Amino acid sequence: MKIIILGAGLSGISTAYFLQKKPGVESITLIEKSSATGGLCRSIRSGKYTYDIGPHILFSKDKEMLELMLNVLNSRNDLKRSNKILYNGIQVQYPFENDLSKLPSEDLRYCIDSFNHNPYENYDATNMIQFFLKTFGEGITNTYLRPYNEKIWKYDPAFMNTSMVERIPKPTKEEIQRSASGETVEGYLHQLYFSYPAEGGIESVVKGFEKQLDPAICNIVLNNAVQTVKKQDSSYTVLTSQGQHYQGDLLISTIPVQELSKAYESADNCLLEHVSKLRYNSIAIAFAKTPYDLCGDNFAFMIPDKDVIFHRISKMDFLGSSYHHQGETTYMVEVTYRDKDQISSLSESELMQQIKQGFEKIGFAHRTEDVEIVNLTRHQYAYVIYDLNHTANMEYIRNFYSKEGILLNGRFGNFEYWNMDKVLRESLELCKQLG
Ligand SMILES: Cc1cc2nc3c(=O)[nH]c(=O)nc-3n(C[C@H](O)[C@H](O)[C@H](O)COP(=O)(O)OP(=O)(O)OC[C@H]3O[C@@H](n4cnc5c(N)ncnc54)[C@H](O)[C@@H]3O)c2cc1C
Repeated sequence: MKIIILGAGLSGISTAYFLQKKPGVESITLIEKSSATGGLCRSIRSGKYTYDIGPHILFSKDKEMLELMLNVLNSRNDLKRSNKILYNGIQVQYPFENDLSKLPSEDLRYCIDSFNHNPYENYDATNMIQFFLKTFGEGITNTYLRPYNEKIWKYDPAFMNTSMVERIPKPTKEEIQRSASGETVEGYLHQLYFSYPAEGGIESVVKGFEKQLDPAICNIVLNNAVQTVKKQDSSYTVLTSQGQHYQGDLLISTIPVQELSKAYESADNCLLEHVSKLRYNSIAIAFAKTPYDLCGDNFAFMIPDKDVIFHRISKMDFLGSSYHHQGETTYMVEVTYRDKDQISSLSESELMQQIKQGFEKIGFAHRTEDVEIVNLTRHQYAYVIYDLNHTANMEYIRNFYSKEGILLNGRFGNFEYWNMDKVLRESLELCKQLG
């Protein structure tokens, strides 16, 4: 059997990794539009710096997949989370509800009273805001969860379903009460400890799998965007932007389903209509530095304040000695946006200026001139937005491609909020499903 995989991010590479040993697999061709493999798990190199597209940490409840990722690394750092929420100039330990006593007394009372006497607790939650109100009460929702989620998603959480949030571990009443009376309680224990490659950034995980691909079976074609996909009888032909043709008996797509649907010759108007209704956001990643350290021994800071353009800033030095450079502190800054919104229309220099102003506003720089932005990149597909029609749209789309015999895999291939562990798990399941 000749297999074609569209896309060579973690999903494409791991699918090839699992499939290559299957009896009957003659060849696997991966077609990738970029000049390198890795997709969202690529690490960007700029001078002496290496950083990811958003800080990628290795953690999972799926111990088997976590082990697999850790085992392909040459070396790693095992770290303990130290994340904060910057709330009106105050550092509250993450997760917010577990460190309530840091809040000003009026906000603290609002959060704990509305948690203890919660009129929403017995309702069924059908959207994200209802879930927050039911689980955490009005105070925690309005003080942190609502503004932060509006900021990261660039979408009203009242129009998002509960897929994203129902996996949030619920703190007990007793934990929240302890946190309100002065104790900082650790929450979200499944990611309290995490690992990170000791060098090379998160891309080392993808490279680790890629190194184990058998060159006699697997061929990765770079710099070739998928342009047309055609099905004839039971075989698939892919034409790329470089005019290359590839033919296979099985087609697995890990490229965003929007890109596949644009290329697929048999895509009808009804399919395209459903695809056009899928919602996602994009991300700008800035790598910045200051000549001093004003954020302490912490990693990520969540910033609900809408006057600051970024929603998260992470101190890269925290990840280990190869990410630390003498005499400076380096940061990764994340700004989400949606097509044609106000942030998407900012020029590079306007965006950089607003990021620098954000540093000053949150107290990580004395003056904007102290912040140097080393690099700024934009990435179209960052987060799947679970709007209220997501499930129905994806059901239609999956049925369509299933009838065409095309297998969808990956974060945007399947259009689900999948982290690396889930991507690996799904690649393995797909391989098993092929019998
Ligand atoms: C900001 C951010 C932070 C994250 N943090 C974490 C984390 O801490 N831990 C974690 O486990 N996960 C994290 N993730 C998730 C992780 O990045 C994804 O699960 C994983 O990278 C998805 O891999 P993929 O192969 O499915 O998709 P992608 O990486 O998107 O791969 C798709 C590939 O298809 C290629 N492609 C697209 N269009 C075409 C075309 N027309 N022709 C050919 N090729 C094409 C792309 O170039 C890309 O290489 C994070 C993601 C983001 C955005």
